Amino acid sequence: PSFEDFKLNKQLLNAVAEQGFSKPTPVQVQTIPLALAGHDVMGIAQTGTGKTAAYTLPLLMKVKYAQGKHPRALILAPTRELVIQIEEHIKNLSVYTDIRTVGIYGGVGPKQQIERIQAGVDLLVATPGRLMDIYHKGELVLKELKTLVLDEADKMMDMGFMPQIRQILEIIPRKRQNLLFSATMHERVHILSEEFLEFPMVVAV
Ligand code: AMP
Repeated sequence: PSFEDFKLNKQLLNAVAEQGFSKPTPVQVQTIPLALAGHDVMGIAQTGTGKTAAYTLPLLMKVKYAQGKHPRALILAPTRELVIQIEEHIKNLSVYTDIRTVGIYGGVGPKQQIERIQAGVDLLVATPGRLMDIYHKGELVLKELKTLVLDEADKMMDMGFMPQIRQILEIIPRKRQNLLFSATMHERVHILSEEFLEFPMVVAV
């Protein structure tokens, strides 16, 4: 298969070509059509397999244009480094769109992050702790979320983020699409997927 086989728009296909991606990786071949069709997806894939683009491209199709002020998709990741990396990846794939992506994480003051949120955001990438901090300050409206992604879910479990993830699930809309990625299918990830996904399609590479 080629990227042209997926129902992606021209802006995304141009960005993919510019990134030098000549053909989709196995996790992309399996995930992109399922995510575009609106399924919940549980992806078992390590870093280096192309998992970030596998969930980012369908998200960018779903979000499509900059709209309103509040995020319509949330990507949770365990570390500041990963949030920064995902934000960069999304920016590369969305260069020909007007979609606004903001990354929020700890280790720096929240002021600049809050200012960027206030300026308007379509896609929010966050560590769970900083997300809850900014939410509790009253600076974040999550009621327009349509999609939730958990990246490196196993690592989030290992780092003890489960209570925070549960809190986040309580403050976001119930009706949404969920995409969960994990390097392993440990028991805890399975438990999380049961709590968090609805009739998931499983993709393993
Ligand atoms: P990830 O597994 O998402 O961390 O991606 C690993 C690396 O693969 C990143 O540097 C991506 O830019 C790159 N990549 C993602 N998809 C493709 C593709 N279809 N062809 C070539 N490289 C890719």
